[in-house]
Amino acid sequence: MGSSWTRRDFLIKSGAALAAAQALEHFDPCCAMAADAITAGEELFELKPVADGIYAAIAAPRYKVNCNAAVILTNDGVVVVDSHSKPSAALALYREVQSITKQPIKRIINTHFHWDHWQGNQVYAQAFPGLEIIASERTRENLTRPDAGSGGIAYIEKQLQLVPKEIEKLGNDLASATDPGQKARLEANLRQTEAYLEELRQMKPALPTRTVDQTVTLNVGDREIRILLLGRGHTDGDVFIYLPKEKVVATGDALIDWMPFMNDGYPEDWVRTLDALEKFEFTQIIPGHGGVMPKQQLAFFRGYLTDLIAAMKKADAEGASLDEMKRTLPDLLAAKYEQGMSRHPLGQYRDRIGLNIEVAYQKVIRKA
Ligand SMILES: [Zn+2]
Ligand SMILES: [Zn+2]
Repeated sequence: MGSSWTRRDFLIKSGAALAAAQALEHFDPCCAMAADAITAGEELFELKPVADGIYAAIAAPRYKVNCNAAVILTNDGVVVVDSHSKPSAALALYREVQSITKQPIKRIINTHFHWDHWQGNQVYAQAFPGLEIIASERTRENLTRPDAGSGGIAYIEKQLQLVPKEIEKLGNDLASATDPGQKARLEANLRQTEAYLEELRQMKPALPTRTVDQTVTLNVGDREIRILLLGRGHTDGDVFIYLPKEKVVATGDALIDWMPFMNDGYPEDWVRTLDALEKFEFTQIIPGHGGVMPKQQLAFFRGYLTDLIAAMKKADAEGASLDEMKRTLPDLLAAKYEQGMSRHPLGQYRDRIGLNIEVAYQKVIRKA
């Protein structure tokens, strides 16, 4: 099967699915809840060495968010984990990678199907014919399903419908803004969103060319890279990229330095999947968003999921409604989690907990 779909291919193949996607009333991009244009003039990525030849490409905060990437140098080409939300971001990282090695990029791994982790694949595919794009079998399916959630071909179509409306709203907000700071912020966000729409219109998404349905070890040149499939979590197709010798793991959004995005997730499975991950020997985590973290951050992040689920079950047993939970639980869990989950400008505790409660209510309490 070809690895690149055009928008037209997709429209022909799934017109009905597109109509269904357009009918969704919420535009809920993973990880783009809050605007932040403060650092828009800075470099898009900071390449941070975490071990010899292993880098965390930490994304600067943007209104149209980018994920982090992991960059793994080997003597048989470079492996890049995740490709951000748009080709221009992937190109920015590609150029940074070229400044540290002359090796070609031979492999991309997509940790999951969300828009901000795969929409830049095409840059690498175009630059390196023969590029291998690796993902779980389930992630590849999600990328081509009409109803998978916040990513994939269908989601590009959905964004093409919704981003113009977002631009219109930003324009209206800008017209009525009076505070100079607020105006500057809205202007920057509007510019980013217009540029993003243009990239969406030109997008020629590159799908995975190789899928795995269980944990595998790749021996790439001198480097041992394990792709771990440990169960459902942030999505039903998450993989973790584990470097046993260097004791580093790249986690995608199954473990981040922000509040989790749960809309396409499986909260109770997620806890068990993180239990399984914890059994591996590693010291550093390259998360999907936020900064490089020590292993003990896993327990903190998992603790939030565990405590949220337990608090919701308890409240439900006491007869609380969803609205009551949304009123009481944020303050109840704040002492333990607000500070640690609000260390970055995006994905902060108060921005996301309401949505987390709504989603967990459907998935854990109502078992929808
Ligand atoms: Zn993400
Ligand atoms: Zn995600």
